[in-house]
Amino acid sequence: MNNLRVFVLGVLAFLALNLGSPAAETQAPVRPFAIGGLEVRPGHMGAGYLAVPEKDGVGTSVPITILHGAKPGPVLALVAGTHGYEYPPILALYRLKKIIDPADLAGTLILVHIANLPSFQKRTIYYNPYDWKNLNRVYPGDPNGTLSQRLADVLTREVVNRCDALLDMHCGDGNEALIPYSYWMISKDARLNEETKQLALAFGLPHIIIDDTRSQDVADSKYLGNTAILRGKPAVTTEAGLLGRSDEEDIQRNIRGSLSVMRLLKMLPGEPELCSAPVWIDKYEVVYSNWDGLFYPAVPQGQYVVAGQKVGTITDFLGEVKEELKAPFSGVLLYIINTPPTSRGEPLFEVGRLQEK
Ligand SMILES: [Zn+2]
Repeated sequence: MNNLRVFVLGVLAFLALNLGSPAAETQAPVRPFAIGGLEVRPGHMGAGYLAVPEKDGVGTSVPITILHGAKPGPVLALVAGTHGYEYPPILALYRLKKIIDPADLAGTLILVHIANLPSFQKRTIYYNPYDWKNLNRVYPGDPNGTLSQRLADVLTREVVNRCDALLDMHCGDGNEALIPYSYWMISKDARLNEETKQLALAFGLPHIIIDDTRSQDVADSKYLGNTAILRGKPAVTTEAGLLGRSDEEDIQRNIRGSLSVMRLLKMLPGEPELCSAPVWIDKYEVVYSNWDGLFYPAVPQGQYVVAGQKVGTITDFLGEVKEELKAPFSGVLLYIINTPPTSRGEPLFEVGRLQEK
């Protein structure tokens, strides 16, 4: 009996060894990554477009690149060009595409090169030129809505729902002078908040806004970053660059930040460059225009203002002063409009209050 048992066990062990290895090979650790008609093999790169279906004769597409790592890891989405006049993040993603070798990558990088191609092509600030909506106010979007709403819907389904973490990469729009900062959006989930904070620190911009003002309604998340957060995924909105320019320093900030976040998520070897002395902003306010006319800034971005200090003046189209704008409270001027046009309801500047130590 003993010999028989040894024999049987030996046969089983033999079968297990010989069946084990082919089975392990067919269960490759990383499967191809499929998105919007693209299928990218592990260790490879693929590029193409996400289609946004036509309605009323208007459609568009979203150029993306997928870097699909040879090793398993998280899916990180880097989204540039939500506002088509914000160039440094857009240019940074084209550089990253050349820098990162998918063979060395753990996980998957989704590069959304230009989320709002109509705005980029027509060089519009804030708005999509076909429906005059701000793409970053209409999430999670609507497949039957206007072009911006349909774009948001495609990005929610194909990018937000597919990723584990997201960076919504902005800068000062064509008319906005700003200093580099990030929004750390606070949710009801303490664990997620900590992960999001680490993303913000890893991206490395020196001012971080602790932002608890965003909608908590998943059906009305409005912002791309918030859409990810309300789906349980860490996300930060970054702002680095200004005034429709393509300054190398700001392109580099976006590249360094992205690579550092990838190291934080262990997608690349090495340690993240965590911001060593962040300036925490615990309250912020955007001051909006009450007039159509011209705006004259009185204070440069980055300067500290005190409550009630004059920050700028609005005149009408005949040059008559209509309003002097004041700082609502003391803090740092995170951005200020620095080209003449202003329209009722549009932003003029943003003040951030420094957190007390
Ligand atoms: Zn923007």
